[in-house]
Amino acid sequence: MIGATSPLHTVAVTAREWLNGDTFVLTCDRPVGFSFQAGQHVTLALDGEEREYTLISPPDAPDLRFLIKRVADGRLSGVLSGLPPGTALRMSRAKGYLTYRPTDRAVVFVANGVGVAPFVAMAAAGIAGFTMIQGARTPAGLFFRHELSRAAGRSIPCLSGVPDQAINLTGLHWGRVTDYVARHLEPGQYDFYLCGSRAMVTDMTLLLDQLCPDARIYSEAYT
Ligand SMILES: Cc1cc2nc3c(=O)[nH]c(=O)nc-3n(C[C@H](O)[C@H](O)[C@H](O)COP(=O)(O)OP(=O)(O)OC[C@H]3O[C@@H](n4cnc5c(N)ncnc54)[C@H](O)[C@@H]3O)c2cc1C
Repeated sequence: MIGATSPLHTVAVTAREWLNGDTFVLTCDRPVGFSFQAGQHVTLALDGEEREYTLISPPDAPDLRFLIKRVADGRLSGVLSGLPPGTALRMSRAKGYLTYRPTDRAVVFVANGVGVAPFVAMAAAGIAGFTMIQGARTPAGLFFRHELSRAAGRSIPCLSGVPDQAINLTGLHWGRVTDYVARHLEPGQYDFYLCGSRAMVTDMTLLLDQLCPDARIYSEAYT
């Protein structure tokens, strides 16, 4: 929440780019004195509505970018999806703990939908060599797949829609991210980072508790 303890910034929308029918990248200018770590989020506020959004820009970027899903009947995401350039938004300081912790263990990022946002920021900040397990219903929902694949040691797109032989992606798994992990996770020492829908984060955490009780799990649920 934006409150007395959170310094307020004002940012102006500079661009909006649609990635598919309901998801867009919103770009804002960067206020002087604003700092953040890759993986953190801010509160954006407009006309009395406040919601959290994760920065996808690296910490040294000149502008601030967000990956936002326009939720049907959503009060703020719907408004953000139609804002003209120049509109001013209020923004909190950066918050949150889903930031990368250097480790000797194998690092696995798991995301569905716009939950890739913290991992996009981490990849842009130079974090590399992780395994990226990215879920969506269709290829159009695999946001920033190429950027993430370039930084990842291994990348597994998981599609939960109807299997289609015409879709040919490297490493493709037909099924949910939980289905992939249940079938293919090899024994080992892992640091897992989970981000996306609460259902995915909950199901994956329960699964990892069974499969891999020694794993460290860092997670953030968006809904
Ligand atoms: C730490 C954190 C970081 C987040 N980062 C991002 C981000 O980077 N990008 C992003 O798009 N969102 C992100 N979210 C979610 C975001 O804060 C809002 O909840 C989301 O945009 C919906 O807000 P709204 O005002 O449009 O919908 P609301 O008016 O709050 O909700 C309208 C209806 O839609 C339902 N609903 C809400 N969210 C979803 C959803 N995602 N899918 C389906 N139904 C939904 C609600 O239950 C309600 O019934 C984040 C949330 C958290 C807690």
